[in-house]
Amino acid sequence: MTKPTDSISPGSPAGPILVALAGNPNSGKTTLFNRLTGARQHVGNYPGVTVEKKEGGYRHDGREVRVIDLPGTYSLTAFSPEELVARQVVIEERPQVVVDVVDASNLERNLYLATQFMELGLPLVLALNMADVAEARGHTIDCAHLSRLFQVPVVSLVANRGTGVEELKQAILEVASAPPRPPARIEYGPGLERALARIAPLLEESKLSRPPCSARWLALKLLEGDPVVRDDIQTRAPHPGPILDAAESCRQELAREFGDDADILIADRRYGFISGACQEAVRSTVESRHTISDRIDLVMTNRLLGIPIFFALMFLVFKLTFSLGDAPMGWIEDGFGWLGDIIGGFWAEGSESLLQSLLVDGIIGGVGGVLVFLPNILLLFLAIAILEDSGYMARAAFIMDRFMQHIGLHGKSFIPMLIGFGCTVPAIMATRTLENRRDRLTTMLVAPLMSCGARLPIYALLIPAFFPPAWHARMLWLIYTIGIALAVLCAKLLRKTLFRGDSAPFVMELPPYRIPTLRGIVIHMWERGWLYLKKAGTLILGISVVMWALATFPRPAENATSPAETAEHEHALEATHLAQTYAGRIGRAMEPAIAPLGFDWRIGTALIGAFAAKEVFVAQMGIVFAVGEADEESPALRERLRETYNPLQAFCIMLFCLISAPCMATIAVTKRESNSWKWALFQLGGLTALAYLITLVVYQVGSRAGIGV
Ligand code: GDP
Ligand code: MG
Repeated sequence: MTKPTDSISPGSPAGPILVALAGNPNSGKTTLFNRLTGARQHVGNYPGVTVEKKEGGYRHDGREVRVIDLPGTYSLTAFSPEELVARQVVIEERPQVVVDVVDASNLERNLYLATQFMELGLPLVLALNMADVAEARGHTIDCAHLSRLFQVPVVSLVANRGTGVEELKQAILEVASAPPRPPARIEYGPGLERALARIAPLLEESKLSRPPCSARWLALKLLEGDPVVRDDIQTRAPHPGPILDAAESCRQELAREFGDDADILIADRRYGFISGACQEAVRSTVESRHTISDRIDLVMTNRLLGIPIFFALMFLVFKLTFSLGDAPMGWIEDGFGWLGDIIGGFWAEGSESLLQSLLVDGIIGGVGGVLVFLPNILLLFLAIAILEDSGYMARAAFIMDRFMQHIGLHGKSFIPMLIGFGCTVPAIMATRTLENRRDRLTTMLVAPLMSCGARLPIYALLIPAFFPPAWHARMLWLIYTIGIALAVLCAKLLRKTLFRGDSAPFVMELPPYRIPTLRGIVIHMWERGWLYLKKAGTLILGISVVMWALATFPRPAENATSPAETAEHEHALEATHLAQTYAGRIGRAMEPAIAPLGFDWRIGTALIGAFAAKEVFVAQMGIVFAVGEADEESPALRERLRETYNPLQAFCIMLFCLISAPCMATIAVTKRESNSWKWALFQLGGLTALAYLITLVVYQVGSRAGIGV
């Protein structure tokens, strides 16, 4: 962070290779140092502190290697002189290789330091020392797999016997001559990532980052409350105020949302990274995991139980979404009904006021129809927030990773997909964490199959209308599961065809479980719920007005409407009029294409509207079935739907809405993130075709077999 010393020029091929030996106390660093350097060493002190400094050297393959023994540390924070010295040395002297000596018999704890070097992007070799002890304790470490996951060479050592030292020397030479690589990226989860995204650009702007300290690294240190980095920024930044203020306010927000200080949250995620890697690369014959988190994970991430538990939890979420949402939904429904009556009451009975129809049928029918589902939406988001904040979502991704690897896919893709349960737009943006373009495009293209929050109102409207209460949660669960299954299958298909090739191995973080704070889950629920409300007040409102106009005009000529004598006659008149409106004409033009799916013209126009935003489907149904209704005691929308369609058709509507073309915003964000219209249009066309095909098969087979008709 201060001026880099120029005694060693990093990467120069002619000079000696500088290797820094790091590791926890008692990991066998001194033993290894002696093995490497023999008698060629001298001992001194680091200037200004009473921390011992040892240097030595050896020759290997004709290359001179200089070794400095860093003080034994557990981390690279600024809380002890040893840690500060170790950090200063690797940052300022930029060794070509850092050898992290790890006690393999106590792997998870020892790897913490390794994550710190990885995040600094320092060229690293992991020396798994005490391999004999680890083996005696029943731990089998798959070094090759660990090496793939961490993207660094891993060498197994027994330093006091000299076993593995030659391999280590070889690995050191290889790393020293390899091209530099970008720092490893640990995913810190939504809360911390949001804070990092706020602070890092400020540091970037002030040009404070310089290798190996990236803006992200400096931002992490500020969040950890590192005094040295803070002072450094205070002195070097032209305007340190806003940066330090942003960091401080993020620290306070995080503490309030998660109930722990940011440095603990950060350490938890780093341990999560390690824990995820060790679950994959280490087999133990003895049970060596002791924390509460570990014990919970024995069940939650169990090879056999993990997936059933995941689906069972999802089922529970949907059960709650429906059963708790029912009552408040009724209140909102009644509220809008009451509002409609009040507004309708301003006009004389039987009047044909356009304004009345716009307000009551168009706006209350459309926007109201969407807002009714706010309780369901909030409950779903509440459940997602609890699962996320408690740490379960990370397990879900981990479990699905294993599952997806079985079918040749990578699980890091599953995180954007989980976000897709909320909204596809941030899900597609979250694919940025996938470094491999093939993985990224595949995930982006299938992400809309994860049923987003905007589709929930469609299910919440149709399921209770057509299925008995005992089936509600089951149906919802089925729809979501179909989406997940299709996403997985499509991804597999894409990886086999368009995006063939290996995917990069990744570590799936398993941070410890924590009890979410009330404040945190309310904030996280509300953030997403608010977006839904905002959309209802803007986009949905606008489209509702358009939809209303399409379903109202052209109006029937005055003399053509003879007064209706019976209710049946009334309905018939209304139907003829609707069929003549623009919406009716568009729908009827579509009918030949959609009739085989069991859809009529009303559903056709609603599907067009749903392309703007999925909720519009519900709004449109509300409008179409409200327009032209004369009497106030019109049956509720669900009843009208039940009169018009059968359960098979309802299921087909849900299926089509689940799979078909995502909304406009999704197409736009796919275009932006993939940087090409080609993929955006491919997504649009591909998903629509898939939806058509599947719905066609289901409807044709279902109606022939007489299921739900
Ligand atoms: P340091 O604190 O990291 O410098 O650790 P030392 O090099 O002083 O080693 C601590 C103890 O572990 C010493 O008694 C070493 O002999 C012992 N030791 C070092 N490497 C190994 C190894 O691979 N296996 C076993 N069983 N003991 C080791
Ligand atoms: Mg020592």
